[in-house]
Amino acid sequence: MLVCNKLTIAHGDVVAVSDVDLEVRAGETVALIGANGAGKTTLLHTISGLNRVRTGDIAFEGKSILSMPTDRRVSLGISQSPEGRKIFPGLTVEENLVVATASWKSWRQSCAEDLDRVFQLFPRLKERRSQLGWSLSGGEQQMLAISRALMARPRLLLLDEPSLGLAPRLAEEVYERVKVIADTGLTILVVEQNTVLALAVADRAYVLEAGRIVLNGTAAELRNDPRVREAYLGR
Ligand code: ATP
Repeated sequence: MLVCNKLTIAHGDVVAVSDVDLEVRAGETVALIGANGAGKTTLLHTISGLNRVRTGDIAFEGKSILSMPTDRRVSLGISQSPEGRKIFPGLTVEENLVVATASWKSWRQSCAEDLDRVFQLFPRLKERRSQLGWSLSGGEQQMLAISRALMARPRLLLLDEPSLGLAPRLAEEVYERVKVIADTGLTILVVEQNTVLALAVADRAYVLEAGRIVLNGTAAELRNDPRVREAYLGR
């Protein structure tokens, strides 16, 4: 579904991602793990069209998307839940969700069923639907950010550090929901520093270090790899 081919991405003179090959097949959950500053967010933003590529290509369902602006990529089915949630200020929970339907909804279409689906997934959001999004707890805001990405009706869901800043129990709760979403067959690329959680939900994973892919394999292979165990799993 997604193929990144020899991608190099720079912020000015800072090369953040070098020569990266990465693939996500339809129906898979793929994790991209790595420490602070490894280049994970840079790569995700580039797939969404928020950063430019220096060299290489990104193809979605067989076609290069490099020349497409972000809104076209969203219309094609690429939808991102950003690092740090980025909940829209001044909008209620429900308004934050409805905003994301702009990629497909015309004035006469209803998004009631889409709202019902995310409220089933995250019942807390239904209880809080009229409350300002910013007044939610960190965990609830993360649930809102994921739900907002789902409202765009994605075929490829990009999740940037869904566990960031959450207490361990809440991070687990968010990942339990990610697993439920994955089990519906939706294709997911998740960027994460919390390697334990990411490898628990992923089919396959890539390890990014200083902008380069240094390891990749099935989640089980990486969980048992001594280099991953020592550097990322603390044992
Ligand atoms: P984290 O987990 O801390 O978010 P990350 O793996 O997502 O880290 P990136 O945010 O992609 O890493 O950063 C990769 C490198 O690019 C870092 O060295 C960072 O300082 C640099 N970088 C990121 N954004 C910019 C920018 N807008 N301008 C200049 N350098 C940047």
